[in-house]
Amino acid sequence: HCKRLQQRCTFYQPGMEEESARLLNLEKDLLLALEQDQFVFYFQPQWDLREQKIEAFEALVRWEHPQKGLLMPGQFLPLVEQVGLSKELDLLLLEKAVCTLAEWKKQGIHIPIAVNMSPVHFQVDGLKGRIQQLLLKYQVSPAVLELEITENTAMSDMEKGSNYINELQQMGIRVSIDDFGTGYSSLGYLRKMPIDKIKIDRSFVTDMAANDSDMMIVKTMITLAHGLGKRILAEGVETETQLQLLRTLACDAIQGYLLAKPLPEAEALALLNGCTLP
Ligand code: C2E
Ligand code: CA
Ligand code: CA
Ligand code: CA
Repeated sequence: HCKRLQQRCTFYQPGMEEESARLLNLEKDLLLALEQDQFVFYFQPQWDLREQKIEAFEALVRWEHPQKGLLMPGQFLPLVEQVGLSKELDLLLLEKAVCTLAEWKKQGIHIPIAVNMSPVHFQVDGLKGRIQQLLLKYQVSPAVLELEITENTAMSDMEKGSNYINELQQMGIRVSIDDFGTGYSSLGYLRKMPIDKIKIDRSFVTDMAANDSDMMIVKTMITLAHGLGKRILAEGVETETQLQLLRTLACDAIQGYLLAKPLPEAEALALLNGCTLP
């Protein structure tokens, strides 16, 4: 028995050391990446089904790692959070978004950018002031900046969350609820908070054609949003069948691979001239 245990230990420990060495290395890389600004945005269009045009771009972060190549958020955001750098990264990305908006403005392009906010940051005091500073510094209108927050973020402290969203809205910034349906199930906050757009989580959209319950959930979310006077967008639309169903249900907007994957800036902007749905 002991022998087996020992074997297990000797087998297990080197692995653990490797893992912590790997994390330590990544953490070092991460600090350098923040300093050297190795993060880039890819942009995915959101399509207005009624107007038949792109209504906004969601900015999705990628890490251009000098050795490892292009890393996806799932490969580094958990680490960023683990080492407590979420706030730093959010601020850096917020500035990047506003700076991009300023460049687009110079080129005569007036299309909103939606930025994802990590949960830890949203409740941190000083975000509003920081956003105001950035908009002033780059001479960008708040009307083209949109913040995406998840239900859990907004709801973790209802009182604070709703005050916050109220103040952002008064500044003229739009706020969307991301991954709707996957977080807290209390719907009261939708009424209390001046949210502009609700984004139906991809998990419901994926199976809506095959699964009656998912279909019913999507339908109900759309009715709910409209009843409360909010716009509703379906995420992760990949097929024409999903698109047709969402059209029938009077969904306002869609986002997903069917229209376009997240793209480098130049390719995303090229979509503005002549992007169409199948
Ligand atoms: P999210 O905000 O829910 O973003 C949507 C994710 O779904 C993106 O993955 C996008 O590439 C992917 N996606 C879009 N359309 C489709 C589709 O039709 N099918 C499928 N299978 N996937 C689709 P991505 O870029 O890997 O980002 C993952 C998550 O990382 C995001 O989920 C968001 O929570 C977080 N994230 C991304 N960028 C940022 C950022 O700049 N800041 C912060 N704080 N979080 C970010
Ligand atoms: Ca998002
Ligand atoms: Ca989402
Ligand atoms: Ca998500």
